[in-house]
Amino acid sequence: MHTINADLHCHSVVSDGTLTPEALAARAKNNGVQLWALTDHDELGGQKRAKQAATELGMQYVSGVEISVTWSGQTVHIVGLGVDDENKLLIDGLYRTRNGRSERAKEMSAQLEKVGIPNAYEGALHFVGNPELVSRTHFARYLVEAGVCKDTDEVFANYLIEGKPGFVAHSWATLDNAVQWITGAGGVAVIAHPGRYRYTSLQLTQLYEQFKDLGGKGIEVVTGSHSATEFKTFAKVAQQYDFLASRGSDFHDPQESHTDLGQLPNLPTQLRPVWSVFQ
Ligand code: AMP
Ligand code: MN
Ligand code: MN
Ligand code: MN
Repeated sequence: MHTINADLHCHSVVSDGTLTPEALAARAKNNGVQLWALTDHDELGGQKRAKQAATELGMQYVSGVEISVTWSGQTVHIVGLGVDDENKLLIDGLYRTRNGRSERAKEMSAQLEKVGIPNAYEGALHFVGNPELVSRTHFARYLVEAGVCKDTDEVFANYLIEGKPGFVAHSWATLDNAVQWITGAGGVAVIAHPGRYRYTSLQLTQLYEQFKDLGGKGIEVVTGSHSATEFKTFAKVAQQYDFLASRGSDFHDPQESHTDLGQLPNLPTQLRPVWSVFQ
């Protein structure tokens, strides 16, 4: 069970990845993935293609989505696994969550213009696969193309983050809504990459407790966003809160992403894998 090569977090051109669902499926299969989920941001539009491609390759598929949530003044990502991709409440909720991305992008562009980077909105749009989903990632790619930064890591250290040019605070879904949409669609809600949040330890405790009270079941332990030390830290959190543990690369692009599909270490053996629910 722990040694299954499961990769339950990645992105396609339907959100801010650069590969199609079919190309991702082929790459996952090539890398030895046995159980795969595509988890585009706030979108289910790639699910049918991903599932079909996986099935044709003989790879097990779990449907997925990564919902943007605002909690205690910061953005938290909640992954939904095993959701019905035709569930109306989930689809409507995601539609409302995507709403406002274009306005936000124009404000981001106006800020960048003030620091001498013109036309960033138009530039970012060239990288966008889904017009409803212009994201910071697309701006980051444009800033690299425009020669402002050498790579997207440099962009996310100097731009587009709180306190730096190009950051525009946004109100995403509530935690309550995101967990309800996922569970209402028959899925399992999982806290994505907990090591990335800049909360105090008290706030983190409150996040885990609230999430659990709302019906959240899982947490990513082994993700491309965590260091080896964080694998251990969040393995302890999973045990402490009796969360199911998930594993996912968060792969976006062959050049940008530090972790390829299916290449992470296995989950620590003491944890209950989230895929025990799907098998
Ligand atoms: P948005 O939903 O528009 O706020 O964009 C969020 C996306 O930007 C994430 O899903 C990542 O793909 C990317 N991102 C955010 N912060 C970083 C970071 N520090 N390094 C690399 N990518 C990041
Ligand atoms: Mn992303
Ligand atoms: Mn995320
Ligand atoms: Mn992600």
